[in-house]
Amino acid sequence: MQKEQSAQLYERACKSLVGGVNSPVRAYNSVGGNPIFMERGEGVFVYDVDGNQYVDLVGSYGPMILGHAHPRVLDEVQAALNKSFTFGASTEMEIKTAEIVKEAFPQMDKVRFVNSGTEAVLSTIRLARAFTGKKKIVKFAGCYHGHSDALLVAAGSGLATMGIPSSQGVPEEAVQNTLIAEFNDIESVRNIIASNENEIAAIFIEAVAGNMGVVVPETTFMQELRSLCNQHNILLVIDEVMTGFRKKFGGAQDFFHVQADISCLGKIIGGGMPVGAYGGKAEVMDKVAPLGDVYQAGTLSGNPIAMACGYATLNELKKQDYKRANELGKRLKKTLLTAAKEYGHRITVNQFGLMVNPFFTEEAVVDFNSAKSSDTELFAKFFWAMAEEGVSIPPSQFEAWFIPIIISDAEMSELNQKIHSAFKAIKQ
Ligand SMILES: *Cc1c(COP(=O)(O)O)cnc(C)c1O
Repeated sequence: MQKEQSAQLYERACKSLVGGVNSPVRAYNSVGGNPIFMERGEGVFVYDVDGNQYVDLVGSYGPMILGHAHPRVLDEVQAALNKSFTFGASTEMEIKTAEIVKEAFPQMDKVRFVNSGTEAVLSTIRLARAFTGKKKIVKFAGCYHGHSDALLVAAGSGLATMGIPSSQGVPEEAVQNTLIAEFNDIESVRNIIASNENEIAAIFIEAVAGNMGVVVPETTFMQELRSLCNQHNILLVIDEVMTGFRKKFGGAQDFFHVQADISCLGKIIGGGMPVGAYGGKAEVMDKVAPLGDVYQAGTLSGNPIAMACGYATLNELKKQDYKRANELGKRLKKTLLTAAKEYGHRITVNQFGLMVNPFFTEEAVVDFNSAKSSDTELFAKFFWAMAEEGVSIPPSQFEAWFIPIIISDAEMSELNQKIHSAFKAIKQ
């Protein structure tokens, strides 16, 4: 594997960009070595600046479910590009994208588009507080909801890898109304509600946790969460920025038979352009300006190019075979377990639709603590073995892998071979 061009770019990047990157997950702190610089992508493959080819399981941390340079997405974006990048005025494409999102999420009467998942969730905090007239919010240890102050406690993602319990620069006051519960542990939620009676505006949860690695909640846990929210007049906010459209054309919440009061979306709905969204029942959403007094705005919100890219992506996804997608997830899980065992490693694999995550631990991974029992040094070796084989996975034990839905059976077999070879290379 050639690495010279990446190494040179990294050295240059470090002189002008903080740590050489624009998002800490792209740094290779937890796996060592220099970040690989990418040049282009086509279908399930990406190519780095040294000309190495990889099967891409990063998918830009979620958006690229259709792979790279999908022809029909490109067409829609090209058509939009020719009309102008942005007007700061309304366009039809915003309506079309809202309509297709609502089709997939019938619990949403109305949607507001923003520019990132972070923005979607932080706007929701304000809305939930305004709607309920209460201040406190609950989040779960290991869940990540973007980098806004109030939710940057016991967060996963880059923070899980870097072992930062929260961030410097977040004043105590900003998180004093944030309460932390344990994922998959309804008693921890009950206790918090009991000691904060009539004070909690909303409970925030990832539909399936993806930022401490993939952790699928118990169905009963999600349902009990829903009924606790109903009993105590608390809004249930389900963050589907990662899980939306990952296992069906719609939300992961459907699989647990719960409905969020407000759902947050991002990643896939922009198809690779910066888009986020939040939406819910009209009585809640109508609190947002201009109808209501909750202020939330954006110069580039609903940007025509981003909407065109998101619309085309969702339109394509509607035609995809999600049953096959789920089989692909199961197949990858099986391959990982078999290959690991063959070469002397005991691992745990969690999977939800196209989201898959091997943990280098024997323990069942059901929450943040069990996720942290993983051998991250062994993961680092595995990461580089995979790179050598030509598979791009996130440079962190605690980030989900995403299978592109358009992967062919032949490409899937090739991927399985590569995984076997990578485990062989780190044989115990
Ligand atoms: C990625 C992610 C976010 C943040 O989205 P950005 O677009 O990175 O701001 C929020 N919530 C979840 C569950 C995510 O996976």
